[in-house]
Amino acid sequence: MTALRQVRGWLAARRRFQFVATVVMVGALTAACGALLLLPKSVLPGLHASDAPVATDPELPAVRQIMTSYGKIVAETVATGSGHVGIVLGHPAHQSDIEVLAGELAASTDAVTGLWGTAWSQAPVVVVASSPAEFAALTNETGDLPTEVAAATVADPFRPGTQPSGQRVVFGSTSGHILGADGLRSVLRHELTHYATRAITADGSPLWMLEGAAEYTAHRGKNRPISEVAPTLTTRARTGDIPADLPADAMFGPAGGQAVLAYEQGWSACAFIADRFGDAKLVDLYHRIATGKKDRAASDTIFQQTLGLNYADFLGHWQTWIKTRTAAGA
Ligand SMILES: [Zn+2]
Repeated sequence: MTALRQVRGWLAARRRFQFVATVVMVGALTAACGALLLLPKSVLPGLHASDAPVATDPELPAVRQIMTSYGKIVAETVATGSGHVGIVLGHPAHQSDIEVLAGELAASTDAVTGLWGTAWSQAPVVVVASSPAEFAALTNETGDLPTEVAAATVADPFRPGTQPSGQRVVFGSTSGHILGADGLRSVLRHELTHYATRAITADGSPLWMLEGAAEYTAHRGKNRPISEVAPTLTTRARTGDIPADLPADAMFGPAGGQAVLAYEQGWSACAFIADRFGDAKLVDLYHRIATGKKDRAASDTIFQQTLGLNYADFLGHWQTWIKTRTAAGA
């Protein structure tokens, strides 16, 4: 029974990671194109007020306008706390996914705010696309995209120091089918972390920090064993294969087949920092690392000033943490 559950958990985690891993390609593409999109104000359609739900995001009419050409729209608004209202939109064929996401939206928003603070809208717009074409339209992607993307979070181009606009999480049409309800909830929390941290995240920042923090937030407080959260890392560590360094950005891309491991390593680095130094230090570190590309010297200074360890010592402690946590029976 336990073994079976473990295998199921492992399979679910593995499937989810492989799926999630493609998301980063969208991020890389948008960064390469120099624009995290979408919808210039000049093309916003003037929809009637009665078409808009209670949610207050000013970009919502534009989202609905795109979605209209893909069929009837269903929308569920959700009070997310502190007077904010989030919304999940989709089409009737995805009603069950919409319900799962709407049922999770308040808890996910709270979980993200609980770690990252209140300096974000707390009124997320979440859309379930009905097809790859609608997904592309909603994320404004025009290049060659992987056919299956779990979810992506997009925003208008913005200047650092201002609040991002036009933000939304877009789920792929087969996400619910592939991920299952628990996977959808976990990916929602991951994506909402990107949503909430967009204003403090510069393009080009190290992906281990960005993706690791999103994964850490998604799993935080759930007490899942490391063998479920990071099955590949665990299996390798048990054969003595411990990462020599934090995962480089290139590892997160789909090309090298290492994205699953990269996400797990990123998660483990953030989980280690939170475990050893506390969540507040992890958030501090994010603020300082997510300001753009970092060379080794810059990282060294930031680690020293934030955690009191130079980079090499940080790596040593992280490696020991992985060994200890993944040891059979731990
Ligand atoms: Zn991500």
